[in-house]
Formats: sequence, C-alpha cells, structure tokens
Amino acid sequence: SIVVTGATGHLGRHVVEQLLEKVPAEQVTAVVRSPQKAADLAERGVRIAVADYNTPETFDGLFAAGDKVLLISGNEFDKGRVRQHQVVIDAAKTAGVALLAYTSAPGPLSAALADDHRGTEEALLGSGVPYALLRNGWYHENYTENLAPVLAHDAVVAAAGEGRVSSAARADYAAAAVAVLTGEGHENTTYELGGDEAWSFAEYAAELSRQTGREIVYNPVTVEALTGILTGAGLPEPLAAVLAGVDASIEKGELVVDSGDLSRLTGRPAIPLAEAVAAALKG
Ligand code: NDP
Repeated sequence: SIVVTGATGHLGRHVVEQLLEKVPAEQVTAVVRSPQKAADLAERGVRIAVADYNTPETFDGLFAAGDKVLLISGNEFDKGRVRQHQVVIDAAKTAGVALLAYTSAPGPLSAALADDHRGTEEALLGSGVPYALLRNGWYHENYTENLAPVLAHDAVVAAAGEGRVSSAARADYAAAAVAVLTGEGHENTTYELGGDEAWSFAEYAAELSRQTGREIVYNPVTVEALTGILTGAGLPEPLAAVLAGVDASIEKGELVVDSGDLSRLTGRPAIPLAEAVAAALKG
C-alpha cells in the first residue's frame, strides 16, 4: 500500500485527495491521531491507521514489506521532532518498506527551523531504508492564509529585506509527493522543491495592490522588530524568533529554489503566487 502519515493535516489532505485520483482507495492508508478527523476518508474506502509519533508501539505492525510511505513532518516543535520521526523510520525499517519519503526543508536553509529536518534526514539515511527527501520550500499559504493584518494596515511587514522566496502551493508539493509515491525510480533521491518563480516582498505587496485596488506597501523591518511584532500579536517568543529567523534566511537567499524539481515531478507549471492570492481574496 501507499501509507501517508499526518494525513489529516493540510498537506496530508491534499496528498490523500490526489492519491485517490490515481490509485484505488483500498491501496491507501491514512495514518492519523484522531479517527474522527478522518471519518470522511474512511467513508471513501481509505484504510485508517491510528498512531502517534510520541507512542512508538502504535506503529508496531502498521507498515508492511513493500509499502511506500510518506512521513509528513510533525508540528510539535517542543516535543523533539527528530525523536518522533525516528519512531516512524524504525518501524519502516523493521517492516522492510520499499520507500520512505520525508517532507524536509530546503538544503541551504540555515534557520533554526531546519535543524529537525537535517536531524531526520541523517537518521533516515543512516537507517538504510530506501528514501526520498522531499525538501519542500515555503508554502504560498504561509502568506495567503495570513492576509488579515496585511489588509488591516495596507502593509506587508517582513524582515527579509530584498530577499526572494520560491514559495509554492501545498497542492503542488502534494502533487510532487504523489508522483514520487506512485512512480518508479525515486529511491535514494533528494528533491529540492519550490515554485517556478521566486518573488520579493515588494513584488508581493505590488501584487496585493493590483488585486485589491488599494495601495499596499512593503515595510521591511529588522529581525528583532519582527520578533517584537509577532510576540505583540500573541505568538510565544520562541516561535516568533523562529519565524523571524526564517525571514533572515530569505534575505540570504536560502529559500530560493532553482532546481526545477517540482514542476518536473508534477509535469506542469507550478501554481503562481498571484493565483493563490486571488483564491485567498475570494475565499
Ligand atoms: P499541519 O500542521 O496542517 O499538519 C501537521 C500534521 O502532523 C497533522 O496531520 C498532525 O496530526 C500531524 N502530527 C503532528 N504531531 C503528530 C504526532 N505526534 N503524531 C502523529 N501525527 C502528528 O501542517 P501542514 O500539513 O501544512 O504541513 C506539513 C508539515 O510541513 C508540518 O507539520 C511542518 O513540519 C511542515 N511545515 C512546512 C511549512 C512550509 O512552508 N514548507 C510551513 C509549516 C509547516 P493531526 O491532524 O492529528 O493534528
């Protein structure tokens, strides 16, 4: 089977949806923490397996020899994600899966956020399990799902200077993952995934202005200032610092992806930021 962890998350839902267009539902297993959250998938014939990265025994016997598995990285930053992901890697190794694909972060990303991904990559490569590293770049949705403060102040605030970012839609990262899970010859390969075109925050503000008919400016600030703004908006300080640190990486060009891997895997141009903006403004 094809097994997807984090199946009830944002990316996981796109992956399962797109898998169902390619393979029969009974060949797809969704690994979830909450079966209630996956009731709609069960109804459509997807196999549901209940497991938690924090409880290794829940993965006992979950995988079978020959399975292709997508490990979607977790979001519990304070719980030791490398240790969590190791649980899945160990279970995959014991079962003898054919492929373990992992949603990682871009190779050049030096921000603190990347540490867990580098640690997981190391564990995966060390395990000897056939792997595929899906080094996902930034999501369009990180921006387009957070338009409220931008529209309230007619300003995009970021600490990225004139840096550029090759973001892409979650749906496209999912399509790349599905191509790897349903295709052949992806063993022991690393993909650097991102949108076809990198954009700057000034260009993002200009696109928002164009689509709203308002004058929305880019207001570049320092990393310290952005950390303060984010904590002021209610984010815990450590998370605010991590997010502001990502902007510093953007300024250094670490989230520019020019491999072409994403559109090569999906076989079509990536959804541009402007389209994600339009969808968000409509929704
Ligand atoms: P979500 O937060 O929507 O999904 C995270 C998924 O991980 C959920 O399905 C969640 O389960 C599952 N999960 C978390 N902890 C555990 C656990 N202990 N055991 C089992 N499952 C667990 O994130 P996205 O889908 O948007 O993105 C996927 C991952 O990509 C994120 O978790 C994060 O690592 C990374 N990411 C990447 C970004 C980018 O721009 N490239 C931006 C943000 C995150 P449940 O459904 O039960 O909550």
